[in-house]
Amino acid sequence: MIQSANPHVIVIGGGPSGTTTATLIAKQGYRVQLFEREKFPRYHIGESLIPETFWVLDKLDMLPKMRDTRFVKKHSVQFVTEKGKLSEPFYFYDNKPHECSQTWQVYRQEFDQMMLDNAREHGVDVHEETRVLDVLFEGKKAVGVKIVGKDGVEREVRADVVVDAAGQSCIIQDRFGLREWDPVLKKAAVWTYWKGAYRDVGRDEGATIVMQTQGKQGWFWYIPLHDDVLSVGVVAPYDYLFVNRETKDLEKIYFEEVAKCPGLQPRIANAERIQPFRAAKEYSYRSKEVAGDGWVLVGDAFGFLDPLYSSGVLLALKSGALAADAVCNGLKSGDTSAATLGAWGPDFMAGMDRMRRLVCEFYDGFSFGRFVKRNPHLKGHLTDLLIGDLFTDKVDDVIAPMNELRAEMEAAAAAATAPPSE
Ligand SMILES: Cc1cc2nc3c(=O)[nH]c(=O)nc-3n(C[C@H](O)[C@H](O)[C@H](O)COP(=O)(O)OP(=O)(O)OC[C@H]3O[C@@H](n4cnc5c(N)ncnc54)[C@H](O)[C@@H]3O)c2cc1C
Repeated sequence: MIQSANPHVIVIGGGPSGTTTATLIAKQGYRVQLFEREKFPRYHIGESLIPETFWVLDKLDMLPKMRDTRFVKKHSVQFVTEKGKLSEPFYFYDNKPHECSQTWQVYRQEFDQMMLDNAREHGVDVHEETRVLDVLFEGKKAVGVKIVGKDGVEREVRADVVVDAAGQSCIIQDRFGLREWDPVLKKAAVWTYWKGAYRDVGRDEGATIVMQTQGKQGWFWYIPLHDDVLSVGVVAPYDYLFVNRETKDLEKIYFEEVAKCPGLQPRIANAERIQPFRAAKEYSYRSKEVAGDGWVLVGDAFGFLDPLYSSGVLLALKSGALAADAVCNGLKSGDTSAATLGAWGPDFMAGMDRMRRLVCEFYDGFSFGRFVKRNPHLKGHLTDLLIGDLFTDKVDDVIAPMNELRAEMEAAAAAATAPPSE
């Protein structure tokens, strides 16, 4: 049953960004209704968390629950070159000796269910199997949503603020044509799950391993989950993976890429595949606006960044927490204008840009090993970026030396291809 009093806030979508925003607003005493089109638990990709999620999980009172799960503990990230050479791991704790440096590899159906239950426990009025058909506007101001439930009956619900947390389905972004595609990060992914694949032990047991394929066209993620399951997927340019290729068969595409990944082959040699192949087109994008009058975007409904450094759930949680503060400020002051609801946007986008820079460097063949060897004092800041400590300009110290090394690499590459002088 939908509550009779109008909510202060409507949240569209029960993924990590929606539940974070809803829970933190409800904790401030406001009435929040959340509409989720699926019945949970439902499958979702995006299993590897990064350490900076800790702070938002703490605000959500989720940490005791996380500690009680069987989720695999993740302490590091490791890189394997196209030749199969394993790099030194980036141990998060060595950089930040704090509890936050241990994070988790999660089955999203379990994690998202926990987050949704947690929202309910904090007073959010959650409606599963209820699809938002449209956002209602009066002039330029969002005033509510049109929904349809399992009974097929359409209803309107009004509120002071509408939060779009609908993931890549992003309702408001599409309605106003706000989406800007990233000109560079036009990737796709094919993945599946294995049982009995190689697992490291001890501190490395839960490491995410990023393995480059020969020719550096793409990379595999290797994410150990509980119950002896490994999530293993390849990411590469969309055209390379799906267009400029004879086959459209996901299994064939996957194994053609496995054949180019010497780091991966021995790890899955004796494993059993336990799920079908899945694929996603994952072009990165961002909305031109983070908020308007009476509405705000969070998580993938605002923007999506390539999954290389597993930043998606962190960005969902972080934007959810920042938006929740802005919404509560707006409700308190009676000002739910774009300026108030979107006050957090510039800092958040600066953080996303820092992560994007690291992603682009990786695809451009930048050598992080060489960078750290030459600038050992900056390894900490590089690790800060990898753990998701993105929302501070202290990490910008890495940018100038990164530019220097890039310029050198480009000059060396140009000299190598220049015709010999007479
Ligand atoms: C191949 C790939 C690998 C990834 N790997 C990682 C990783 O390792 N680590 C990581 O952190 N991130 C990863 N991500 C990113 C991560 O999946 C997302 O960033 C994250 O799920 C965003 O959370 P969200 O809450 O914004 O959206 P979602 O999790 O997508 O949640 C949106 C919810 O809204 C609901 N919804 C949609 N439309 C409506 C509607 N009209 N009405 C009602 N409900 C609606 C959906 O059912 C869904 O439950 C990966 C992404 C891809 C594509």
